[in-house]
Amino acid sequence: MKKLSIIILFLVILSLGFSYLIPLPQKGNDGTFSFEAISKNDMASRPTRSSFPIYYMEIEDANTHLAAELDIFFINSWGEPLDDIQINLPANMVGVNNIEVFSLKINNKSVNFKSYTDKIIIYLPHTMMPEDTVIISLSFETHFKSNFTRFGKYDEIYLLSLWYPVIAPRIKDNWVSFQWIPHADPYFFETAIFEINLYTDKDIMSPHPYTHTGNHYRFKTLPIRDFSLVMGTLAGINRKIYNGPEISYYSRDHRIDLVTNTQDVFNFYSEKFGPYPYSSLVFVDVPMDYFKGMEFSGMIFLNEDQIIDLFTVAHEIAHQWWYSLVGNDQLNESWIDEGLANYAAYKYCQEKGLPVADIFKIYFSLAENTYRGFPIVRKLQDFPSAANYRQAVYLKGANFWIQVEEMIGEEETFNYLRKIQNQYQYEIIDTEILIQGLVEDYDLRASDLHKLLK
Ligand SMILES: [Zn+2]
Repeated sequence: MKKLSIIILFLVILSLGFSYLIPLPQKGNDGTFSFEAISKNDMASRPTRSSFPIYYMEIEDANTHLAAELDIFFINSWGEPLDDIQINLPANMVGVNNIEVFSLKINNKSVNFKSYTDKIIIYLPHTMMPEDTVIISLSFETHFKSNFTRFGKYDEIYLLSLWYPVIAPRIKDNWVSFQWIPHADPYFFETAIFEINLYTDKDIMSPHPYTHTGNHYRFKTLPIRDFSLVMGTLAGINRKIYNGPEISYYSRDHRIDLVTNTQDVFNFYSEKFGPYPYSSLVFVDVPMDYFKGMEFSGMIFLNEDQIIDLFTVAHEIAHQWWYSLVGNDQLNESWIDEGLANYAAYKYCQEKGLPVADIFKIYFSLAENTYRGFPIVRKLQDFPSAANYRQAVYLKGANFWIQVEEMIGEEETFNYLRKIQNQYQYEIIDTEILIQGLVEDYDLRASDLHKLLK
């Protein structure tokens, strides 16, 4: 393509941005709960965690807010004693008292805790040893005020992402607090199971399977990264993928043949990265700041005010593997999921012979040049600007995998990523895991790989 048009497209893209069985706890005669825990080997190999927390919720839709009772059955699978547990209130990153907690108990008894705007530290009455369990009970309300950004209300549509209290993730023996950076995803979650009764008169757009009678919706999920929903009425279309999930697209104005494109992208990733375990994938057009798309477990928000191109769709779908099935610390190592989502979208467009693939390949190498000497494994707040963040993390992050491909070939790169999916499904990975695996499997030098991120 002509140089001028490449430059124009480059500027346009940069300016748009792209984010582009488990058992039930059993109540014993003495009133305590225990988990009939399934061993690691019964499910996909999970090297660090042996069981998922289960979130039981009763939710009443009071129109201006949701009123909820939450019991979290939590097993200490961290392999170390815990003296406290941190609960994060993610919606409170974006506004005051969006989530309000009214009572908190451990094993049905009062407990000492310290409240902050966006988190609560619970001081455990007894040290929790590895494999010990507790029930954390909270009453809370989630309010939908005028504030709106991924979470919130517009017209009569309610975006339920980031909306409930959640046990904080843990990295290097510390609970992780979230910190709002509007142009990034400054949160991530440990995989959990959700069993939810929701009472509402509104329509539901849900990637999670449910049954309903009247206004009573009953959900029971597989292990998922986050439980997000949309409530309200939008026209939907859906189509079942052969041997795959049902794809649904809800919108005021079905702008593109999203569902057809999605099927093709979906089949490509299933073959390259491994099967998608869930029964549905939901797209919803919503207004959004900063992003063309935003990923949640089984659900993708698309910015209704922007043109959605196929690269963006492919990027967002890739997050179902790299964010949702295999997670990472998005506050310190966002290059992992964003780099992989961009690399995956690039590979899809390349496979289809779309010119955008060649253009992106140029961007990736331009970013590598521009950001040489600028380490991309860094805290979100240490990026000087939103533009700098996008170029460095999204483009240089993808370039890492293009360089790996040059070292070991395309087929082995996909084999490796598939192996990571298989080995770390429902887990959190980090830069070290990715690099060490490449060093061991392909006899590469760790220093050469680290250099690509510096
Ligand atoms: Zn993304």
